[in-house]
Amino acid sequence: GGARADSLDLNSHDSRWPRQNSLSMKEWDIPYDELKLFEVIGAGRFGTVYRGSWHGAVAVKLLHVHSLSDHCAQLDTFKHEVATFRKTRHENLVLFMGACMKPPRLAIVTSLCKGMTLYTHIHLRKDKFTANKSVIVAQQISQGMGYLHARGILHKDLKTKNIFLENGKVVITDFGLFSVTKLCFSNNARGDSLGIPPGWLCYLAPELVRALRPHASLHLPFSKCTDVYAFGTVWYELLCGEYPFKGQPPEAIIWQVGKGVKPSLANMQASRDIKDILMLCWSYRSAERPDFPHLLSTLEKLPRKRLARSPSHPVHLSRSADS
Ligand code: ATP
Repeated sequence: GGARADSLDLNSHDSRWPRQNSLSMKEWDIPYDELKLFEVIGAGRFGTVYRGSWHGAVAVKLLHVHSLSDHCAQLDTFKHEVATFRKTRHENLVLFMGACMKPPRLAIVTSLCKGMTLYTHIHLRKDKFTANKSVIVAQQISQGMGYLHARGILHKDLKTKNIFLENGKVVITDFGLFSVTKLCFSNNARGDSLGIPPGWLCYLAPELVRALRPHASLHLPFSKCTDVYAFGTVWYELLCGEYPFKGQPPEAIIWQVGKGVKPSLANMQASRDIKDILMLCWSYRSAERPDFPHLLSTLEKLPRKRLARSPSHPVHLSRSADS
């Protein structure tokens, strides 16, 4: 019966999810009528995000469900991803609150992130991140990602657009929803023939780039290592204030990344240790990329650069400003 499956689910293992899932999922089911939707915050590839209310402020991602024939596959994928999502509880990950799972109303309800995404800070507002600030942000991303990986969850779409900064605290969003994204995305016309939305390519590891085929992004060989590669790109954006391979056409990027050519760091003003982290994350061979716990300890060991001191600026003051 349902009660038994629910209690079993307390120690559920991934291998068991298909049978128990449908029952224990009830706990996370939010009746669509209970949600209040306010204004649109933004539209992504596969859904529209609303500011909403459900026992307080929430973000509601309403999925576009395209054709009826897609429903079954989409619903199954969606349920699987929701099942993954609900297993996450970490400071640096957006709080999953529940989902509406009755087609055509498929929605994911999370806490509403305050602040702005790293993308907005870096690319729109052109905010400069000092090396110290970048390290702190990167550490928090590594914490959140390390947690996801330890639970066997791949992000698959780590990028500055999916990382919020709330009063200095990193909150990662959009993990584990990639298949649904892609399933819907393959039906719409944005992006080019390979299904590459602008700004996506530079996060893709060589093994992903080499596997790109028209409308086949659902089957890309994502791994913990491809998440680490994407982290490298985030690290680059933090330090340089722009995307790697900036201004180059997709074909040129694909050709270079596929062959193991990395963007030039010649103009990057950063210490050797900082560049080394980047090069390791961007290793052509996936096995050579560090994992997140390793990255975290490397980041923690980086020497904190002290602020330049001018004679008019006493030492003790510049020290305290450096935080
Ligand atoms: P893509 O679909 O290519 O990943 P995207 O990341 O811009 O693009 P969405 O993830 O659908 O698209 O997000 C749409 C908008 O909603 C973005 O501006 C995003 O910052 C915002 N958003 C998403 N989740 C939240 C949240 N929990 N709190 C506040 N804003 C959010």
